[in-house]
Amino acid sequence: MLRLRDRVALVTGGAGGIGRQTALRLAAEGAAVVVTDIQDEAGAAVAAEIRDDGGRSLFLHHDVADEAAWAAAVRSAVDEFGGLDILVNNAGIADHGTIEDTTAESYERTIAVTQTSVFLGMRAAAEALRASEHASVINISSIFGASGGFGTSPAYHAAKGAVRLLTKNAALQWADTGIRVNSVHPGFIDTAILAGARGTDREAAILAVTPLGRLGRPAEVAAAVAYLASDDASFTTGSELYVDGGYLA
Ligand code: NAD
Repeated sequence: MLRLRDRVALVTGGAGGIGRQTALRLAAEGAAVVVTDIQDEAGAAVAAEIRDDGGRSLFLHHDVADEAAWAAAVRSAVDEFGGLDILVNNAGIADHGTIEDTTAESYERTIAVTQTSVFLGMRAAAEALRASEHASVINISSIFGASGGFGTSPAYHAAKGAVRLLTKNAALQWADTGIRVNSVHPGFIDTAILAGARGTDREAAILAVTPLGRLGRPAEVAAAVAYLASDDASFTTGSELYVDGGYLA
């Protein structure tokens, strides 16, 4: 069943990890996908993979923290594919550190890429989404957007917590437009973000606090995004979907 046939999606941070799997999944369900990222080669490869599989996709270099770049990103979806129905605000950076050793500069950068980008994206896409009859925004937060935790920085927690409530605010502001806005909260997912933890005590600690006893797969997060993007979730807005192996249960 092609749940997203004739839909147009924009996925930020689509070059790798969760974003890449999300782009592939949305395309497999029928959507045309604008893949954006700051990693040009890897991002272009994702778009090429979709096209090779018979789908419609293009890659765009796009720094989500750059306010001016957002207009061009949305325009590329509208110009190339005729509109925008699905916005996945996925790009984010996870830094590490304590309150004491985090500089104001690195704090602000994490907030800009991981939090402010979500606001900029929704604002830039608002007009195009209003024109869609199936508009859905999915903002990728984290288990650390809903609880404290170990191993990531104060800025990452602050950003992901803000993404959770920004999502609910947007869902209420836009409820009468039909634009649905939901957040997805991955637990520990096997991507580049966790590369440094593999084979270390940190990985053992992660597995110990994850009831299903393993890392999640990017495709498992992508499946949650595809559900929220589709009409299967037509009565779901302002919600938060956890894909965390039971971490927050
Ligand atoms: P990843 O590092 O594999 O992918 C992140 C992507 O974002 C990369 O392709 C990167 O190039 C891109 N990116 C970074 N800065 C950018 C910028 N300024 N503009 C545009 N693109 C940029 O990580 P991932 O695990 O796939 O993470 C995807 C999202 O999921 C992030 O928001 C992350 O915080 C969230 N998340 C991940 C996990 C996990 O365990 N992997 C858990 C919870 C939430």
